[in-house]
Amino acid sequence: MPRLTVQEVEARLSTVKCAVCKKNAFGIDERFMHDDGEWRGICKSCYYSFPIYTDMEFYLRTQPDVPLRLKEISCTACNHRGVSLDFRATMSVREAIYFVTCQRCKRQFPEQSSLEAFE
Ligand SMILES: [Zn+2]
Ligand SMILES: [Zn+2]
Repeated sequence: MPRLTVQEVEARLSTVKCAVCKKNAFGIDERFMHDDGEWRGICKSCYYSFPIYTDMEFYLRTQPDVPLRLKEISCTACNHRGVSLDFRATMSVREAIYFVTCQRCKRQFPEQSSLEAFE
């Protein structure tokens, strides 16, 4: 799986809204980029920060339900079912977002996750 760049992740984040102020400009706090793939996104307007997980290989290995769910997601452009997961973000305790790519037309879009188990 190719490594995501900070620029790619920032660009993809701009397709979702901040859980607090509803703006859509985010940065990555590079001080908190861990080797295990956990990053930190920050809202550029209110400085709200949230975790981003970029190691999807590990995630998919440990969450056997997720690959099944990914097969069910339909593309917002071509309606093809089946996407690949690029990274995910936990925007708030109630809102986890998958950033996915359509396997047919390669459209990239965010998908609200209903699977996350919250403590
Ligand atoms: Zn904000
Ligand atoms: Zn598509």
